[in-house]
Amino acid sequence: NSTSTPSKEINDDEKYKLLDGLLVSGFDEASCISRSQSHFYHKPSPHKPSQYLISKLRKYEELHRRCGPNTRAYNKDMKIIANSKQNGTHCAATTCKYIIWVPVNGLGNQIISIASSFLYALLTDRVMLVQFRKDKEGLFCEPFLNSTWLLPKDSPFWNTENVQRYQSTIEMEMNNTLNEDLPLAMFADLSFSYTFEERFFHCDHSQFLLGKIPLLFLKSSTYFVPSFFLTPIFEKELRKMFPDITSIFHHLGRYLFRPANEAWERITNFYQQYLTKANERVGLQIRVYDPNSTPHQDVMNHILNCTLENNLLPRVLGTKNTSLSTSSRKNKTNTKVVIVASLYPQYGNNLNTMYQNKSTVTGEVIEVYQPSGEGKQKFGDNKHNMKAWVEMYLLSLCDVLVTTSQSTFGYVAKGLGNSRPWILYNPVNNQTKEICEREFIVEPCHKYPPLHYCNGTTIEDISSSFHNIRHCKDFPFGVKLV
Ligand code: GDP
Repeated sequence: NSTSTPSKEINDDEKYKLLDGLLVSGFDEASCISRSQSHFYHKPSPHKPSQYLISKLRKYEELHRRCGPNTRAYNKDMKIIANSKQNGTHCAATTCKYIIWVPVNGLGNQIISIASSFLYALLTDRVMLVQFRKDKEGLFCEPFLNSTWLLPKDSPFWNTENVQRYQSTIEMEMNNTLNEDLPLAMFADLSFSYTFEERFFHCDHSQFLLGKIPLLFLKSSTYFVPSFFLTPIFEKELRKMFPDITSIFHHLGRYLFRPANEAWERITNFYQQYLTKANERVGLQIRVYDPNSTPHQDVMNHILNCTLENNLLPRVLGTKNTSLSTSSRKNKTNTKVVIVASLYPQYGNNLNTMYQNKSTVTGEVIEVYQPSGEGKQKFGDNKHNMKAWVEMYLLSLCDVLVTTSQSTFGYVAKGLGNSRPWILYNPVNNQTKEICEREFIVEPCHKYPPLHYCNGTTIEDISSSFHNIRHCKDFPFGVKLV
């Protein structure tokens, strides 16, 4: 508003609220309360989004408004593509191009793959829609102003059974047996399988081919962003968008994943009830993939060794010194609150018992809370996903974080919170000899990076062949941007 000069405080508040321009104003606040409140909970980020990234996001939002669901362009394009499936047409041009993100695996895997797909959409001028079923209701706000990213319920594109596969198409292209007539829709499955082959998705020649396909289904469970840095046609643009390439997920994650009101209420209720009073908040993410091969007691010992040796939590005395703890409380001794996120309730219970029954050598008061203990991973379950999302977000609000090696659940927490966690290694199957180790970079690990150069020869050592790519500490086969 040019007629009034807002005070500096208002500008600053607006700046924090909009995460230094990452978010756009204009949303109805009540529809997504976390948008206007999350900056009260997260520490201000030291990573500022570049002006170029901000301008790309604003342009993207504009594109999404023009081409997203319920627009004239979308309705027309979707008809053309759907009809081409039925009558085999292969040529009609559409006004816009699209990605439909297809889910696979757990929520952490899905969040990092949505962020990667969105970056791909930014790089290729596509509109991204997501196949969210009932299991994701109430988790995330709409990220794009005056539009929706949800694939409409009545879309014919929930079913991808007969969509031509990118993998076979690119093989034909490389063997020079590809027919000129490309389909209008194609399915690229980049998720891990035991016959994993990247099929040169990171190569310019694949991207030229995919650029001709109006609708691309994208399925992946990994953070495939580092691959884009191997793609010459993308690299320059990426470096303009992200002069600091170690905060890509941090920016994209905070931009895309705002807790919807129900999730936000759970997060803030928990925070106000247990975390506000803490001098320090410690998050422990304990992911046990198979309790048969990794016994809980071994994991518990590992957690204690890691947290005590690195002074993340204090050791305990033989017994509870009630006079000490009473006076400590009176003297306002430090209170550390520990949030335990795990499928198994025994971790929170064990820690809680330990600190309730014994005094700490530092005199600190330790309170332990575990929001849930689901027992096992469930698929397609809304309540279960809600708990997972709330816990990822709560972990992202902690001052100190310990995450389990290789877990994408932990990747999301550290990325949103911009923390360099301690990585807890598996006590049984551990290639490094460390119990836990400090992470050096906030970016998630891309667990299945390309195996070949674009001419087909094998990449012997990806970290020495490409700039800014290193093997991950927690998953040495994978890579991350540094
Ligand atoms: P990853 O398998 O560790 O990489 O993480 P994902 O998030 O992709 O998949 C694990 C899924 O199991 C989560 O999405 C949850 O559904 C469930 N899960 C695992 N650990 C926890 C936890 O600590 N808390 C909750 N609530 N759910 C969990």
